[in-house]
Amino acid sequence: PTHPDTADVLVVGGGIGGLGAAFALAGEGLRVRVLEAAPEFGEVGAGLQLAPNGTRVLHEYGLLDEAKRRGVVPETMVMFDAVDATELTRLDLRDLERRYGFPYIVIHRSDLHALLLDACRRAGVDLATDSRVVEYRTRGPRPSVVLADGRIEDADVVIAADGLHSVARDRFVGDAPVGSSYVAYRGAVPIDDVRDQRVHENAVVVYVGPRCHFVQYALRGGEMFNQVAVFQSPKALAGEDDWGTPDELDEAFADTAEQVRAGIPLMWRDRWWRMFDREPVDTWVFDRVALLGDAAHPPLQYLAQGAIMALEDGWVLARHAARNRAADGTVDWAAALAGYQAVRPEHCRRVQRTARAWGELWHLDGLARAQRNRILRERDTYDYTFVDWLYGPTALEPDREAPMFVPIPLDSFADAAP
Ligand code: FAD
Repeated sequence: PTHPDTADVLVVGGGIGGLGAAFALAGEGLRVRVLEAAPEFGEVGAGLQLAPNGTRVLHEYGLLDEAKRRGVVPETMVMFDAVDATELTRLDLRDLERRYGFPYIVIHRSDLHALLLDACRRAGVDLATDSRVVEYRTRGPRPSVVLADGRIEDADVVIAADGLHSVARDRFVGDAPVGSSYVAYRGAVPIDDVRDQRVHENAVVVYVGPRCHFVQYALRGGEMFNQVAVFQSPKALAGEDDWGTPDELDEAFADTAEQVRAGIPLMWRDRWWRMFDREPVDTWVFDRVALLGDAAHPPLQYLAQGAIMALEDGWVLARHAARNRAADGTVDWAAALAGYQAVRPEHCRRVQRTARAWGELWHLDGLARAQRNRILRERDTYDYTFVDWLYGPTALEPDREAPMFVPIPLDSFADAAP
């Protein structure tokens, strides 16, 4: 392992974003040290969807086969109306794989995290736990960070991958997370517990309904079944502190179809998550400190792209480091970070904005819901207009940028809303 004071790169935060970046940079021969606040590396939550733009990065890292082994490669993604359980639209994930060159997979968060952690270990990344960064210093020849216990560490460059509540974001941008009034419950159970409900084992299923939605898919080679229930919390909306309690969960799904209601009792009821994002910002690089992952661009989760964007960031960053590396091995970090900054914010801004719009569309009620359903039913399964910009390689190669994505005009629904 590398000695701290000889690290080329310090990565703050050992989540999926931080570990992905650390692995990619170590792969370029750089000495990388990860500083993780928690006493152990790990992930909370259950399933994670990885669309082709995410599995493309895993393929580049040589980790895709293992990810597929640990996860599930579903055949379809189907959207149903949560109230009447009618089908609205679907994606044929086999065709999607042919189109974009990489599969759509689902994987347990802790499995993806463990896979990246193992890869970092093999690549010689220096991994430190109990290392909470409380301050960043950009003056002087090398940037440095101050840890909670007073230690100071420096490197040629610091990558802040410290998540939604990023200290670096606070220090350099100074904005606050934007709280939506939506709350998520998660839950993963053995597949046998849901067999009698005749759930779709080979599909990613989402039921969209008024102020709520429900996601289901099998995990871990089909042994587990993952569910996410999201709803607007009346107490969160009213600004009360005890938002999202289980009685609110039950109430939010009371008028949904039987298929949906059957899943609600299986949710973990001792922990729930408020949905936050932030306003997009165009500047992620502050001298020799760069934001990455949720620290830079936390989205609402409706497009299932947060972890993917974090993985993409690391891959792009490492490519720019490699491009700006002299024969003696030194990296022109100003140029590398400028390259990273030139490529990523525009795409991530678009994901953040579209995720918000997508969430609004999912949660419509009344006439607007009926209009949405009609439009979605008319969509051809093999029409990729809405996902080309997202699942294709454009996020990594801006010279291949697709035309600006135009979401279904929400204004027309807003006018019609009761
Ligand atoms: P984090 O995972 O938050 O990691 C940050 C790390 O930094 C943590 O380990 C933390 O302990 C550490 N840390 C924090 N502060 C400090 C500090 N001061 N010093 C040192 N270390 C620190 N994304 C997808 O791609 N697909 C999906 O299907 C999907 N589904 C989702 C469903 C839900 C309900 C939610 C809430 C999110 C979902 N996401 C999904 C988004 C995804 O989970 C996140 O975008 C992703 O995990 C962000 O990774 P990260 O490494 O940037 O941040």
